[in-house]
Amino acid sequence: MGEILVREVMTPNPVTLSVSNKLVHAIEIMSGLEIGSVIVEKEDKAFNIITQRDIIYALSHNCEDMEIGEFIEKCKPKRKFFTILNSATVYEAMELMEKEKVKHLPVVDKDGKVVGIITATDILRKVTHVALVDPLTKVYNRKYLDVLYFKLRKRMGFSLLMMDIDDFKKINDTYGHVFGDKVLANLGKVLLKCIRNYDDAIRYGGEEFLVVLYRANIEEAKKVAERIREMFSKIEYEEVPGLKVTVSIGIAQGINGENLWDIIKKADQALYKAKKNGKNRVEVYGKD
Ligand code: GH3
Ligand code: MG
Ligand code: MG
Repeated sequence: MGEILVREVMTPNPVTLSVSNKLVHAIEIMSGLEIGSVIVEKEDKAFNIITQRDIIYALSHNCEDMEIGEFIEKCKPKRKFFTILNSATVYEAMELMEKEKVKHLPVVDKDGKVVGIITATDILRKVTHVALVDPLTKVYNRKYLDVLYFKLRKRMGFSLLMMDIDDFKKINDTYGHVFGDKVLANLGKVLLKCIRNYDDAIRYGGEEFLVVLYRANIEEAKKVAERIREMFSKIEYEEVPGLKVTVSIGIAQGINGENLWDIIKKADQALYKAKKNGKNRVEVYGKD
């Protein structure tokens, strides 16, 4: 977390109001946009923050018709107001949130101008991302399998694709590891392009990947697998003109009650069949 900066995690251009706006404005904005706070500016600088907690306080003390400036001065319980610099680290933001018991921090630049807002939820999301996403291929890493196991327990009607790059050892040996890494990154990009937002792509091992297609039957899964296979094989590499890198794919259907590891085994058997039958092809488990 130490090296990640607040500006990389914050939500930019947050909603701001001025001290002369009415408090009801803040209430309308927060309920309409479903956001937890609005930042209050005074003379173009961060001045204070109105949170849901303040709104509840205002409503129960009949302050909602006040101007925001007046509310802050006369009604809002006095709390110190904190901001964080956009160049600070996420770790510093977390420390400040923890120490001062605040969940929303307005982010300011060196001139005190509001440039974003960072919340505990933003940070949690980023931490999860850093821990579970493979930096090279941008798909989930193997640790995500534990999450997937729980996610799939009660689910029916998904398809699992297991794939492995063909002759990847030779590619590495011939053109070097840096080039090999580029090939891996390309497969990651193809996977993310070919699946829907709610599907999952995971780097299972060195050059082996899993894809979970939710609510997809075998026919639909075959279409996606073919699209992946074809798109990947058509990538041109300027370092090696004419080189064609391919991938083999095995498919298994997620069956109700069966656990993830057993379905992975089936997809792996289908993948083995694809390799045996000549590579650069898609095979389905259980079909001859
Ligand atoms: P097949 O067609 O049967 O799959 O043959 P293959 O050569 O692809 O299979 P094998 O499993 O023998 O080779 C996998 C290679 O992947 C070996 C390993 O050096 C390479 N590899 C694993 N992880 C990485 C990585 O992160 N970067 C690079 N460049 N290579 C990797
Ligand atoms: Mg392999
Ligand atoms: Mg391979």
